[in-house]
Amino acid sequence: MLKQTGIPTKEDIEKILPSKQRREKGAYVVIECFEEIPCDPCTAACQYGAILQMENVNDLPEADYEKCNGCGICIGLCPGVAIFVVDETYSEEKALIKLPYEFTPLPNKGDVVPGLDRAGEEVCKAEVIRVQKHPSKTNIIWITVQKELAHEVRFIRIPEI
Ligand code: SF4
Ligand code: SF4
Repeated sequence: MLKQTGIPTKEDIEKILPSKQRREKGAYVVIECFEEIPCDPCTAACQYGAILQMENVNDLPEADYEKCNGCGICIGLCPGVAIFVVDETYSEEKALIKLPYEFTPLPNKGDVVPGLDRAGEEVCKAEVIRVQKHPSKTNIIWITVQKELAHEVRFIRIPEI
């Protein structure tokens, strides 16, 4: 499916996630970059060394989840908008997702907006927790969703006013 549609399957995603034990410790990066392309700014973006240096610029990026603290700096520096941060320990019922957002208008903190899956289908309502504006790189939106959707929701839609 990935090759035909560009949309990774649940199995594709499971292959890139950290262990259950790591996921229970707090926020971690999720790098949804599946195409071998000449691109590597993510490796320099992480000052904690949690995105491994590549031997070849066409290599797929790899995370060292033990070094990742979920800060999200790498999200805004990926030209492929392929990097997310997920925190499944955010609360009893909710997971936090930090996602790249390149559109305008930006949402506002406190907004409740449609949460979309990778195919652009609405799967829930998501609450905007924080809006990180970056004039020179991609904006980052923090949302919360039901925990079981932590690896389903990857975008939001701002309803037209
Ligand atoms: S979320 Fe922060 S610590 Fe983790 S890989 Fe990205 S920049 Fe590094
Ligand atoms: S910067 Fe983004 S698109 Fe480029 S290799 Fe890293 S994750 Fe993939």
